[in-house]
Amino acid sequence: MAFIEAALASVRPRLASSACPSSSSRFALFSSLPSILPCSSVPPTSPGPRSFSTSGDIEDPVPPRSSLLGQFRSKRGLSVTDITSTRHYYQEWCEKQLEFSLCRGKPKRTDAMKAGSDRHSQLEKEVSEKMELHFETIEDSWAIRLMNFIIGAHNLLFEGITRELPVVGVIEGVWMVGVIDEIRISRDGGAGLPMLVDTKTRCKATVPSAAQKRNARLQLMCYKYLWDNLVTNTFPTEHFFRHYELNRQYTLTGDVKKYIDSLELDLKTLDDVLSHFRRTSSLLSQSDEQLLLRYELQSDQSLLEEYYFPYDSSWCKKQVDKGLEFWLGYREASFVPEDEKWKCKFCAFASDCPQSVTSSTNRTRSR
Ligand code: SF4
Repeated sequence: MAFIEAALASVRPRLASSACPSSSSRFALFSSLPSILPCSSVPPTSPGPRSFSTSGDIEDPVPPRSSLLGQFRSKRGLSVTDITSTRHYYQEWCEKQLEFSLCRGKPKRTDAMKAGSDRHSQLEKEVSEKMELHFETIEDSWAIRLMNFIIGAHNLLFEGITRELPVVGVIEGVWMVGVIDEIRISRDGGAGLPMLVDTKTRCKATVPSAAQKRNARLQLMCYKYLWDNLVTNTFPTEHFFRHYELNRQYTLTGDVKKYIDSLELDLKTLDDVLSHFRRTSSLLSQSDEQLLLRYELQSDQSLLEEYYFPYDSSWCKKQVDKGLEFWLGYREASFVPEDEKWKCKFCAFASDCPQSVTSSTNRTRSR
């Protein structure tokens, strides 16, 4: 403990000391790890989903190579948004569309998507300064991600707020990564626990549908699950290195090493960074049971709604199980339900989609 406090103290002068969210600190940019396997058709059926597991009870599952998880996410881990986002090309929008985009590549991003991510970058800049770091190995890229967590946790502890905090852990026996939009600790009364917040931007000044809120709730609950496991359980270090096939004794190089040296931290290997990450996690508290969703209007960033809701562990587990059945190849991709067929009009894969083809044939016949 003394070591981590000393280490954090050594970083502190380089970070902003003000409690104001508009202060800035140094923050590294993490780039996604590449997926490496090619695509094939939907895999055969298999036994069914595993029971809810914690980071302390990992079965070291090996997804079938033919499953979408085995093909596209075996190295970098599934992302929370893979299974919870309501945007185009994510599972909750339409599983069939997600499968198409994985196998054929994503079409160009829409203006609304760009505006949403621009707003997130803007919010992030209010509490941290992004740096671009070049890296050549997966070990260096993981070191950046873990350092981002360490610096973000430091901001939370000393300034009461952090944004775009990367997390990693195991949900239902599957490694998952994610980036928590915002965590804040209220100093004015309340439990003083870290509260997880997600800001969604909307093109029109309307409140979100129940379905959109449902998926955003699920996303925040998954982040809470990952956060709470990181700060309350022993991180499964051996399993982490084995799963991502990382060389724990890898000596950090280039930009990554320079960045760590600039923080006056004596971390030479990936193992050193992970140990520091674990020590930092142990200083943090479990998050608040209340979660907060904020909806903003894209054009002027005015607040449309703030929606507080409680964490529901059993509901979250049920939803994650359902999503994982698809990724693990236990069932085929579903199409949009009848009352959401309007989505097909905006789908780049409509001409190849069996559902869309069937619908247009039926329309033609009924004329
Ligand atoms: S056409 Fe409709 S059902 Fe088919 S992939 Fe696109 S959105 Fe999904």
